[in-house]
Amino acid sequence: MLTATSSVQYLKGVGEKRAEQLNKLGIYTVGDLLSHFPRQYEDWSAVTPIASAPRDVPCCIRATAMAKPIERFIRKGLSLYTFSAVDASGVIRITLFNNKYAAAKIEAGRQYLFFGTVSGSLNAPELSSPLIEPAESGTRIRPIYPLTAGITSRYLEKEVGLALLALDKELDHDPLPHALRSQYRLCTYRYAMENIHFPTDQTALETARRRLIFEELFLLQLGLFRLKNPSHTTTAIHVKQDYTADFQKLLPFSLTGAQSRAIADAVNDMRGTSPMNRLLHGDVGSGKTAVAACLAYTVVRNGYQCVMMAPTEILAQQHYASFCRMFEHDDRIQVGLLTGSLTKKQKDTVRAQIEDGSCQLLVGTHALLSDTVRFQNLGLVITDEQHRFGVRQRSALTAKGESPHLLVMSATPIPRTLALIVYGDLDISVLDELPAGRSPITTYAIGTDKRNRAYGYVRKFIDEGRQAYVVCPLVEDGETDLVAAETYVKTLAEGPLKGYRVGLLHGKMKPREKEQIMQEFAQNRISVLVSTTVVEVGVDVPNAVLMVVENAERFGLAQLHQLRGRVGRGQYASSCILISDAQNEEATRRLKVMCATTDGFRIADEDLKLRGPGDFFGDRQHGLPQLKIADFLSDMTLLREAQDAARDIHAKDPALKTVENQYLRTCVDALFARIGGGLN
Ligand code: ADP
Ligand code: MG
Repeated sequence: MLTATSSVQYLKGVGEKRAEQLNKLGIYTVGDLLSHFPRQYEDWSAVTPIASAPRDVPCCIRATAMAKPIERFIRKGLSLYTFSAVDASGVIRITLFNNKYAAAKIEAGRQYLFFGTVSGSLNAPELSSPLIEPAESGTRIRPIYPLTAGITSRYLEKEVGLALLALDKELDHDPLPHALRSQYRLCTYRYAMENIHFPTDQTALETARRRLIFEELFLLQLGLFRLKNPSHTTTAIHVKQDYTADFQKLLPFSLTGAQSRAIADAVNDMRGTSPMNRLLHGDVGSGKTAVAACLAYTVVRNGYQCVMMAPTEILAQQHYASFCRMFEHDDRIQVGLLTGSLTKKQKDTVRAQIEDGSCQLLVGTHALLSDTVRFQNLGLVITDEQHRFGVRQRSALTAKGESPHLLVMSATPIPRTLALIVYGDLDISVLDELPAGRSPITTYAIGTDKRNRAYGYVRKFIDEGRQAYVVCPLVEDGETDLVAAETYVKTLAEGPLKGYRVGLLHGKMKPREKEQIMQEFAQNRISVLVSTTVVEVGVDVPNAVLMVVENAERFGLAQLHQLRGRVGRGQYASSCILISDAQNEEATRRLKVMCATTDGFRIADEDLKLRGPGDFFGDRQHGLPQLKIADFLSDMTLLREAQDAARDIHAKDPALKTVENQYLRTCVDALFARIGGGLN
């Protein structure tokens, strides 16, 4: 007997070759086939009379062929087959191109369903290359599936039909408990599966879709809740005293209102009895680091340790340097750095200081996750993630303490809907105010013919004492990153930037070399930093005022926004020059958006519209399963409902141990198992 986990090859009509083709669509099991949902539908259910057929949208006509099609040979390789068909309202002329096979099946006097877009005048309607079915096959809504070479939608339709029959018993096994279905007015699993593939009418289709979207978002959310800190735990870490005022004295500037509010929110959380779970959401340059530093300071002054994890060595290094500077005159707080590139001896020293408590604030990269890193009393975990860490990495770090507080920092390009999913159970603070005295960044998109002018601009600013970034052209086929970058730097240094101090930062350099270059740039011993995109995340050099991006068309909006965020961080007016000759519509649109706004939220929404949610996190590195049916832009209300439902169930039965939630747990596990390898 077949089950959902049986190989799809056991279905009638699926041989080895077919199975391979189906694999390309992500279909391995019979269950996969059933959750290969149609991407759209052809509505053959509403039959339109010929006389009132619309001209711009496809429709279904039921008419009788008046004669067999006549073949007309137009030229070599092109034959037309024409015939007329009639219904009670009129006659329509039908043309088939080169389709001998379809033409041969048409019999005079027999009734057919024709599906297509009608053209021609009101008196002489025409239909070119319609889909044709004998009228007996019935009027209904037909599914159109996402396809791959060799697989047709009709074939999938047939196999899905067989799969539904084969799994008939299993369809009564509903992942959503009865009580939940009735509370949120959701149809049964059986109804949903039958109607998403073969809807009886539009209403049934909507009902099925709603239920499946809900289910998907609900399972996703429930899975995420289970991965994260269970919210009902209590924490042993009690932050009694707020040291924000003391911290402010260590800073050369005053905190913005938004920074102070975020700090107050977080301190308030940390005074509570359950661990803080807070997202600090702020656009590039909004000053998240100072907020992190203040909270670290408060936690340390209350007698606990704090750890902060950054996605790259450069960033970890930079945070370490700025923390050292801030806390230079306060010997109650010792800062340590732990990254992969340290020598074993250096690592051992830091690890010992962390374990015995003589170092209280530890900054680092993934190296922090190692088992050998043990804290004396970890009170606060901070991740500066710019969407790079998965939930599991966060939990790995919090597991090093006894329910420590958690602060997740993220730069904006993430639409609010997505934030709700990824950070579903986190409270959110938004830094919606840039530090005072920032001048706006002006953005230009230019063609390569104006490149020389751009470099004239670079020279002008350097002559005034400022600095610039140039992001390298991306590699061509057959070239390596390094060769491309080195050739490019040479061209610049011997050409438009002759006589200027040009440095190269490249992804393949050793961490120590990168650090060296970054330091020279930070100290203005290098004027122009030519770089591959390693500079994208977080780097902070306020004296840099110009960002030039070559091949700007090859970057996504979020990346461009991050790159541009490297300038405009100080008191000087800054510019961003995007160089591109791209003509294609999407690339042009991205560049337009960049020139039109510097608002991270707007850019994120545009990005989502342009790319779709599937792509948003760059593959699966975020530990989110690919959604099959839900859509983050349009399903906001359902998302909220699904979240409420997940929160309820999670609160009552966090381990999903009760009998009625048993099957639910299997489904959540299965969803997350699919991405198992991707979660790290
Ligand atoms: P991001 O939010 O992108 O991580 P940073 O924390 O790197 O931003 O801060 C950007 C720059 O703004 C840094 O040079 C930092 O010193 C400066 N900065 C942060 N807060 C303030 C403030 N309240 N007033 C002035 N400058 C600030
Ligand atoms: Mg930052």
